[in-house]
Amino acid sequence: MKKIIVQKFGGTSVADTDKIKNVAQTVIREKNNGNDVVVVVSAMGHTTDHLVKMAKDLNPNPSAREMDMLLSTGECVSIALLTMAIQAQGYKAVSFNATQIGILTENVHSKARIVDIKTEKLKKNLDEGNIIVVAGFQGVTEDGEITTLGRGGSDTSAVALAAALNAERCDIYTDVEGVYTTDPRVVQNASRLDIISYEEMLELAHAGANVLHPRSVETAKQCAVPLRVRSSFKLENMGTLILGVEKMEIHKPVAGVAADSSQVRVVVCDVPDTPGAAATLFSCLADENVSVDMIIQSYARKVSNTNDIAFTINKEDLDKATVILKDVQAKLGAADVKIDDDIAKVSIIGAGMIDRPGIASTMFKTLAENNINIRMISTSEIKISCLINKEDAQAAVKALHDVFNLGCDEIADVKGTLPDV
Ligand code: ASP
Ligand code: MG
Repeated sequence: MKKIIVQKFGGTSVADTDKIKNVAQTVIREKNNGNDVVVVVSAMGHTTDHLVKMAKDLNPNPSAREMDMLLSTGECVSIALLTMAIQAQGYKAVSFNATQIGILTENVHSKARIVDIKTEKLKKNLDEGNIIVVAGFQGVTEDGEITTLGRGGSDTSAVALAAALNAERCDIYTDVEGVYTTDPRVVQNASRLDIISYEEMLELAHAGANVLHPRSVETAKQCAVPLRVRSSFKLENMGTLILGVEKMEIHKPVAGVAADSSQVRVVVCDVPDTPGAAATLFSCLADENVSVDMIIQSYARKVSNTNDIAFTINKEDLDKATVILKDVQAKLGAADVKIDDDIAKVSIIGAGMIDRPGIASTMFKTLAENNINIRMISTSEIKISCLINKEDAQAAVKALHDVFNLGCDEIADVKGTLPDV
């Protein structure tokens, strides 16, 4: 049996026809290595952003169903063009959208999860010698409704396909050379990691490192799909390999630093201190599919018998959340809801921090020395996040990258021109 390699190319890698020709060469190279190749592509360049803009020009509140209908078209253009480019080189290739394959998702628009992928058609076409080009980012429900997986979701399509096909590896080709200790555009001597664990990558992705869609890492971890992030433009560079933590030897306590400015902070003030208040608040948000990140409930005030509940959500959910929160405020009898969008979350991540005391205090001390105020703190086993003012984000990242010795001697060569969302 031949090995199957899944390759994924982001928007920057297929931004114009020259770049698509370049991708066709990379695909063919893998095929010539004797492997079966399944390719997943994103929409060309900034196509998805343009589609979003057109929608908003016509309707400030477009329905999620029609947004999915619209946004799924971007990837359809790329698959057809890439397939033509491969065929032009004399290779057999065929493109499929999610509906044709059966990439089944839950019945949720705009950030659906994949529940199953039918592999019959893929296997049949591979057996016939085809290179298969699949539209990333999109799915279909049992009833034939078109869905999308959320911005940046093509990574997840690729990993899910790799898992379904039992692929040897999933290679994510992008505009950066791999996973860095932090954003090389912010810290010049950021170093590229040769290897990182799924666990760390997952925390980095959630903390705002834009390299991979978090759900793709989750899926890779669950299904043990080896993942490689590498540059479309520098093929000689092997990029970063992402594997299970048990396969690694960990030296440094902190592997990376990330900042995320895509969240807003919500404070529900003076919530009566009774059982069920938090349950009511977060169920109402969950029912409308609003994800919540950091949560802090303050110590109850004795006199009023109330407390404050603060949490963060994604900016893109803010309009929806504002409506829900008005209702919940009344339901709970809370005094006020305050929203603050001038914030950033800065996080340090590392499997090496487990059982190593002093990492949190070093982080807090470093922020203090730079006169950066911490507004919320949350931790997991391998991550510490602080919510700070947005204007302090870059300084915080630089200082933390420094104090945990993550830099290398060279200045990172940042080739990417378009952010590859
Ligand atoms: N085209 C989609 C986006 O821009 C999906 C992706 O690129 O992964 O978000
Ligand atoms: Mg992407």
